Amino acid sequence: MKQADIDALRGKSIAPQGLFIDGNWTQPLNGGRLDVLSPIDGKVLTTIADAGAEDVDRAVRAARIAFERGSWSRMAPAGRKKVLLKLADLIEAHALELAVLGVRDNGTEISMAYKAEPLSAAGTFRYYAEAIDKIYGEIAPTQADVLGLIHREPLGVVAAIVPWNFPMMIGAWKVAPALAAGNSVVLKPAEVASLTLLRLGELAAEAGLPEGVFNVVTGRGGVTGEALGLHMDVDAIAFTGSGGVGRRLLEYSARSNLKRVHLELGGKSPNIVFADAPDLDQAAKVSAFGIFRNSGQVCVAGSRLLVQASVYDRFMERLVAVTRGMRVGDPLDLASDAGAVSSAEQLAKNLGHVTAAEEDGARLLTGGNRLKEETGGYYMAPTIFDEVTPAMRLAREEVFGPVLAVSRFEDEAEAVRLANATVYGLASAVWTTNLATAHRMVRAVRAGVVHVNTYGGADITVPLGGFGQSGFGRDKSLHAFDKYTDLKTAWISLG
Ligand code: NAP
Repeated sequence: MKQADIDALRGKSIAPQGLFIDGNWTQPLNGGRLDVLSPIDGKVLTTIADAGAEDVDRAVRAARIAFERGSWSRMAPAGRKKVLLKLADLIEAHALELAVLGVRDNGTEISMAYKAEPLSAAGTFRYYAEAIDKIYGEIAPTQADVLGLIHREPLGVVAAIVPWNFPMMIGAWKVAPALAAGNSVVLKPAEVASLTLLRLGELAAEAGLPEGVFNVVTGRGGVTGEALGLHMDVDAIAFTGSGGVGRRLLEYSARSNLKRVHLELGGKSPNIVFADAPDLDQAAKVSAFGIFRNSGQVCVAGSRLLVQASVYDRFMERLVAVTRGMRVGDPLDLASDAGAVSSAEQLAKNLGHVTAAEEDGARLLTGGNRLKEETGGYYMAPTIFDEVTPAMRLAREEVFGPVLAVSRFEDEAEAVRLANATVYGLASAVWTTNLATAHRMVRAVRAGVVHVNTYGGADITVPLGGFGQSGFGRDKSLHAFDKYTDLKTAWISLG
């Protein structure tokens, strides 16, 4: 990836966007439009369609008709594989265009976005495409005069509702296994990060996905998202986002057709550094990047750092130095370590958390302020508070921004107690050279993933999901198929 190629794309005009329904672009029936502001400079990039309930209904109907038609749902797995592999190739062929478009939309630094968005999405489509013709049904160990067959069937119409951080990566985690299993999908991106997923709709059609199998509807969460949640003909919702909206989706399900709801929610993930960490300098560097990349807008971000008292001062000195050295700025500049916060609203929320931490008595070590206000963009300094106690709001509430809460611990028991003093349970890390400590911590920390001597970086082969209020259901790995398929028993008399 070259800076000149990025710069050639950064000013490209973006046409007003439609809804992608039944293989075609269409406009919302109510004519509603929403401005898309770029977090780089706060200026209007383009507009997207503000879909109402009637547009959602059109998309769901198209998806249902496509499912019943069977041209995708009953296609041989090897056929679906071919189309999804082509889609992966197309995403990869357009990777830079997609990455720059996404960065202009949501502000993630390009060095991260390029890999984490189009390239990761292409890999995800490839993984599920390759998997689908290698998964077999089962024969039950029954008595001799019957044959018990266990089939795995697609559900029908799956709605995917995704957040604004990493829309392509997270979108692909849901759309790829759902499509590979034979479902039809209606995808609703977040208002502030819709552009790349609209383009995905177009690429899916180019790859040969039959009309109506994959639809993208944009609009406001409380309108477009709610209409999907309440729709009587949606069989399942795969959601990533906040706990508040997750709760609403469960209510919508209860009030409508009891559709399945799979929730990937927030986190307040503990990153635990023992005195015998293999390399404290490296641990400090990885810990800083583990919270501050993408301006902290990473669900698994290590937002609570727990450091053993005997190395606390040395470790913190290094961590603060690395943090102060991070370059926050234009997300389309390859040299930026962190780009812009996704929206003015999110920036205001982040700064509100800073004020709350100060009110609660935490000590500000660095950051805490907005940067580059003169650009009109939404930049924030990587921020570290220490002397954070479990009762403080900064220890309990997810910021989803570049704000790190640090506490010290004396021994393993205290580390476990602090780590688990949260309603969340998404991710965590342990830094130690002691194998027994590492294994004990893997068992003791309540989280969907425990990294050891690293932070982040898990690939598509392993599941991601939460314990506690971080949700349920798992994205990624072959386990994701459980969310998009149903088991059916055939009990056949041989007598
Ligand atoms: P959010 O506000 O919950 O929004 C997520 C999605 O839900 C968006 O598409 C949003 O649309 C939509 N939505 C909002 N209100 C809705 C409603 N009443 N009914 C149906 N849909 C509705 O979350 P966010 O601010 O975009 O994302 C940040 C959150 O996602 C954080 O908590 C983060 O930890 C979590 N996250 C979790 C994971 C994971 O894997 N566990 C990964 C990434 C992010 P609009 O944006 O258009 O309102």
